[in-house]
Amino acid sequence: MSLFGFDVWIDASWLLLAALISWTLAEAVFPSVTPRLAAATYWWMAIATTIGFLFSIVFHEMSHSLVARRYGMPIRGITLFLFGGVAEMEQEPPSPKSEFLMAAAGPAASFVLSAVFFALLALADAWKSPAALKDMLWYLGFLNAVLAVFNLIPAFPLDGGRMLRAALWSWRKNLLWATRIATRAGDVFGILLIVLGVISIVTGNFIGGMWRFLIGMFLRGAASSSYREVLARTALQGVPVSRLMTAQPITVPADASIDTFVEDFVYRYHHRSFPVASDGVLQGCVGTEQAASIERAAWSRTRVRQIMARCPPEEMVGPQTGALAALAQMRRSGRSRLWVVDQGRLVGVLSLRDVMQLLSTKLELEQNEIQRSSAPSGKP
Ligand SMILES: [Zn+2]
Repeated sequence: MSLFGFDVWIDASWLLLAALISWTLAEAVFPSVTPRLAAATYWWMAIATTIGFLFSIVFHEMSHSLVARRYGMPIRGITLFLFGGVAEMEQEPPSPKSEFLMAAAGPAASFVLSAVFFALLALADAWKSPAALKDMLWYLGFLNAVLAVFNLIPAFPLDGGRMLRAALWSWRKNLLWATRIATRAGDVFGILLIVLGVISIVTGNFIGGMWRFLIGMFLRGAASSSYREVLARTALQGVPVSRLMTAQPITVPADASIDTFVEDFVYRYHHRSFPVASDGVLQGCVGTEQAASIERAAWSRTRVRQIMARCPPEEMVGPQTGALAALAQMRRSGRSRLWVVDQGRLVGVLSLRDVMQLLSTKLELEQNEIQRSSAPSGKP
């Protein structure tokens, strides 16, 4: 489904949750609030309320996305899953202010929607509407208030956690430190939910306990993975490919025979593709597939020049390209090695291993820093 140009996906887990909510409303909640209605009436009320809740969540996420788009942050789409939705952001927000406003938009939208449902309830009351309608309006107002309050808990990646991170970020001008505190709060809240869930299960509230346990597990996982991602982004920020690449990569001479290519390059280095260069000028790329297209008997008299192809653009980067952009290019194209080309000259090769090595070194330094000083330095 598509709304305002955003794709909206409904995860299978959400359908399960929707069924569970409908069932709870129809069998337990509505009969206890307004007794003596027909069973079918309770089910119609439950299904309508669940659909209203689904739209409430879409409304909440859509308000995040509209603010994000206003600040030029690309949003891929919105996925509705388990206990809410996730607006999929492709990058970190550009400033603390934009992150704060983007995060605050969701709970604000839910509070507004809650107020609208309670206002409709007051109208329904004044017009002496049937109890079934009033129950539904009351419940939707209540669910939206719960959605707003739960999301305001300052535990990253919940909206409140994002607002906390934005406030800390704006205070110390250090995104990494702010993310560390906000994700730690997310982790602690996740543990709290898991403990509460286990207590509920032990004391006989199995379904409620299970939900708390699952949401706690999800929050802990999301908190730690978002911290690692910010760490990686910070470490690679502003580092050009030329500082990470290996200079003087292995190149195949254009007049080598395929025999030599296979024996001295493919069997020795085990790469899928090699650059062909003479005097430092990149002439093309040659891989095992091209060698395999020639009959084996002809290998000794066929030259690499005859089978090489143009290097595909997704295999090449410039030396001044940022390491983050190069990493994204590797992820997109599924290659772990990129040729670094400067005005037609092959100046180096960038491998995924080089990038990962820098990351792990920076991570170690970072860990030492945390151990040495528990107080933040305040400098980015
Ligand atoms: Zn939200």
